[in-house]
Amino acid sequence: ENRPRSGGKKVILAEPRGFCAGVHRAIEIVERALEIHGPPVYVRKQIVHNEHVVRRLEERGARFVDSETEVPDGAVCIFSAHGVSPQVRGNAARRHLTVIDATCPLVAKVHQEARRFARDERTLILVGHADHEEIEGTFGEAPDRTIIVQDADEARRVHLPPGVPAAYLTQTTLSVDDTAEIVSILEERFPELTGPGSEDICYASQNRQNAVKAIAKRSDLVLVVGSANSSNTIRMVEVARAAGSQAHLLPDADRLDPGWLDGVGTVGLSAGASAPEVLVDEVIERLGDLGFTDIETEATASETVVFKLPSGLQRTSTNGT
Ligand code: SF4
Repeated sequence: ENRPRSGGKKVILAEPRGFCAGVHRAIEIVERALEIHGPPVYVRKQIVHNEHVVRRLEERGARFVDSETEVPDGAVCIFSAHGVSPQVRGNAARRHLTVIDATCPLVAKVHQEARRFARDERTLILVGHADHEEIEGTFGEAPDRTIIVQDADEARRVHLPPGVPAAYLTQTTLSVDDTAEIVSILEERFPELTGPGSEDICYASQNRQNAVKAIAKRSDLVLVVGSANSSNTIRMVEVARAAGSQAHLLPDADRLDPGWLDGVGTVGLSAGASAPEVLVDEVIERLGDLGFTDIETEATASETVVFKLPSGLQRTSTNGT
């Protein structure tokens, strides 16, 4: 890197980073459900895509399962922040599960849009990653009329049934820039296409990508704390690379490879929406041990979004317990 630096080695912290309102809410829902119902409570899939969060809740009595069909009849079952398809809700009802829904309200909004477009008898183009839980859930709203488009190439190739109006929706955690490209390809090919613009990409993903872009411009290396199955975290790594920095996803401080820091004077540091701040603190400590002691924060937005808990779980509620 031809970025000469004098003095101490530097860390630039991105702000905002880490937990979003949907993740806060989902974790609090599991904690409240444990308080109210007592362990075990079952959680379908990882409540949020972070292995540390899952482990900590497991220690408190949450049981994570892959499918609602593994939950004993009548037990408490929490749906993860990523949302579920109507088929999953049907299975849960048939098993008489006490369902607590931790679907992020911004994911629920995309489900609502999918239902509306399906009612209008449109073909639905769902921009997102087919193997991601959120897309499995949204796809399930109208499987017969939904086509998944994962990237620009697929947008160039996709065929729509002729004579049927179409609309698109997107996953909430996509890259803003990549999605803009995909949507412009689709709109050029299908001029009648309607959709939400970039509004399905949630505020948290947009803000974290902007922040990471800002620090990447000033860093030799960007580290994004988060788990490897976290979509928004992977997108942040890609955004940092696209902005010209080297970048790695870092599950926790123990997995920081000191070799990455060879010749690096400034490290940009951020965290995905599902990564607890304690993991960032541990990375800062580890970087400090390796000579990166000059810490600066670069703030590109401030966030005030808070989502209410479901009514039965609110702490101030008189009928919640
Ligand atoms: Fe909701 Fe966005 Fe957070 Fe996902 S990343 S839980 S959509 S706020």
